[in-house]
Amino acid sequence: MPASRLIHLMIISLLAFAASAQSELPPTFQPAPRPTPSSVRVMAGLRLEYYFSALKQGGSGLLRLSGDDITGARFIFRGAQRPFFRHYDDWYALVLVDMNAQPGNYPLAVTVKRPSETLSFERDLRIDAAGFIRQTLEMPPERSHLAAPRIEQAEFERLAELTAVYTAEPLWDETGFALPSNHALSTPFGVFRLMNGGRETRHTGWDQNAPAGSPIHALAAGVVVLAEALEIRGNTVFIDHGLGIYSGYAHLSDNYVEVGQRVAGGQIIGSSGNSGRSTAAHIHWEIVGLGAWLDGLAFLNLWLPAPSRPQVDANA
Ligand SMILES: [Zn+2]
Repeated sequence: MPASRLIHLMIISLLAFAASAQSELPPTFQPAPRPTPSSVRVMAGLRLEYYFSALKQGGSGLLRLSGDDITGARFIFRGAQRPFFRHYDDWYALVLVDMNAQPGNYPLAVTVKRPSETLSFERDLRIDAAGFIRQTLEMPPERSHLAAPRIEQAEFERLAELTAVYTAEPLWDETGFALPSNHALSTPFGVFRLMNGGRETRHTGWDQNAPAGSPIHALAAGVVVLAEALEIRGNTVFIDHGLGIYSGYAHLSDNYVEVGQRVAGGQIIGSSGNSGRSTAAHIHWEIVGLGAWLDGLAFLNLWLPAPSRPQVDANA
């Protein structure tokens, strides 16, 4: 057999192996047509679709705008102004609610620019209480110093600075977002934790019961912006997915990526462990969007346009 044929066969078997490894991933994402919006507003040839009616603390919602001659759009919600991003002929925006947002009604104002006019859509958006539970957590003595507020504050500030960088285009691809591990979910997002009988802290992500050394997959395609040991999160990786969306992976025993590296959705970026403020091996993962700590599972369930191709309607 000629060498080139042999190499070709080896490549095919490697691809088959990669495909079978990929198919073991549990996650939920299947490229899907765009769902039906919860409500629609039409004005002067513009169509604004809301893919939510109310949002919970930590929740995520999508807006879609279409119409002729749109040169830009933005919305204002809870004091922050956010741009829409263009996707083929449509414009989209993510409405993201921090876990600490006060429940209540807030105005959501969308402004659309055309060459000759500026138009506004306004409505109220209700934020509902998410009903976060309370837990107690006992740290072993050798790690109890990690309960110190100053350590946690410094780490939050570092991550806030890191995730404040806004990449103006989506970096995820048509594989979308999916869970980082196929192990059972354990501690949910947003839990109030009483640590060693003293101070209360917040659980900013979701935990999964991944035994030490389990492969941990990138939630989506993006660029690695942090890969180092932090005090509370231990060995940690953060990935920028564009449009202000970041995912984090904590308590790793090892990581296989470097800052600046592009990763594919589902790529193995590290292995689970028990580093940092942790009592047993597991994977803690989290999503920060536009500076807000989000319910990662709710975000994974959000329909998002695939950056590389136009979208079709579910009912088209
Ligand atoms: Zn956790």
